[in-house]
Amino acid sequence: MKSTQIQCALDGKITPEMKQTSFTENIDEELVLERILNGSLVIMKRKYKSQTSIGAGATTKVNVNIGTSSACVDIDAEIEKALVAEKYGADTITDLSMGGEIKTIRRHIFNNTSVPITTVPIYETIIEHGLENLETDHLLKMIEQHVNEGISSLVLHLVDKKSLEHLKSSGRIMGMVSKGGSFTSSFMIKENCENPFIEYFDEILDILRRKDVVLSLGNSMRGGCVHDRFDSSQGMEIERNIHFAEKAKSYGVQTIIEGLGGHINASDISPHIKYYKSKTKFPLFVAGPLPTDISPGYDHIAGAVGASIASGAGADYMCYITPAEHLSLPTPTQVREGLVAFKIAAHIGDSIKYGLSDKDYELSKRRSVFDWNGQMQYAIDPEKPKEMCPKEGPCSMCGEYCAIQIMGEYLSKN
Ligand code: SF4
Repeated sequence: MKSTQIQCALDGKITPEMKQTSFTENIDEELVLERILNGSLVIMKRKYKSQTSIGAGATTKVNVNIGTSSACVDIDAEIEKALVAEKYGADTITDLSMGGEIKTIRRHIFNNTSVPITTVPIYETIIEHGLENLETDHLLKMIEQHVNEGISSLVLHLVDKKSLEHLKSSGRIMGMVSKGGSFTSSFMIKENCENPFIEYFDEILDILRRKDVVLSLGNSMRGGCVHDRFDSSQGMEIERNIHFAEKAKSYGVQTIIEGLGGHINASDISPHIKYYKSKTKFPLFVAGPLPTDISPGYDHIAGAVGASIASGAGADYMCYITPAEHLSLPTPTQVREGLVAFKIAAHIGDSIKYGLSDKDYELSKRRSVFDWNGQMQYAIDPEKPKEMCPKEGPCSMCGEYCAIQIMGEYLSKN
């Protein structure tokens, strides 16, 4: 059987993937190995195409969710979203399709991208069998199928009966807002059983280990509004996910934890991340977070504010939010807007984590001499500003009263 990154690290072997991570993230090779071994860094691979590194010492990564819904199926739009995601720098793509020919859509997404792909297998299983007829065996077969298709990572929601009981008395406004968490919980309630992903965790690890697929432990209990503050359900979920992440590591399966996300009061974001980091080394995946509920239509902006705080406080990997959040399935243009907003957030977060980037320095130097083309080389999304700026000299914002020009000559002399 082929060894996973963790198994190689255990043998002291530096793999080509670790070397690549060392090069792209500027981390010493031995340190990469050490971090793979202690679980603080994972390498998500897309066979023969690409890899991305998430966790300790790596830059903050951004995931883009795409995929059809039961209400909206347009394969061409999904392909376009996948292309847009790659073009504007998504580090990973998650296909959440729940409408139309899901396997065909996934194949198109695979054929049109090179970045690592994540899925949430329970989504397709629910569509294929319906919640009423769903059986544990269906879930396990779907996981195997996705792994054999070449996914890089998959999401499981390890909600348990005890935390569902806690949820009843939590007094939350929004209850549970995680789709994967709600599907898993519905199955448990219907069958009056424990979570099948927990019950068959060993078997699932065995499947993931065969192809070194990264396990992502979902955040079923995230808050759905800023007034639903951190509660015992979330606390229990973090503890539980850490327990299962440790088990996965001992099996040689790389794991990340969605330990925070959804809607969080801005002042709680950093303390929560520090709490998570004090508990475990596993890379922290954060959905959003949204620090306000009153930004429909602009949730990508609110989300980017939350994500900047989160990334700066130590989040390793963030899931973007589009302007269509809470409103509709996003269009390709909205995917671009959400992704660019989160690339900016990740960059700001990295400047807090690792210090200012040369890119900011280089752009500013060119800005100071009105080198518009030069500036765009360093812009996160150069296309939009190119449509707005002049060819040369000061822009129309201040015209002849341009501060840079008025003071430039004096300052350059002194
Ligand atoms: S005109 Fe105003 S906004 Fe434009 S470059 Fe000069 S100072 Fe900046």
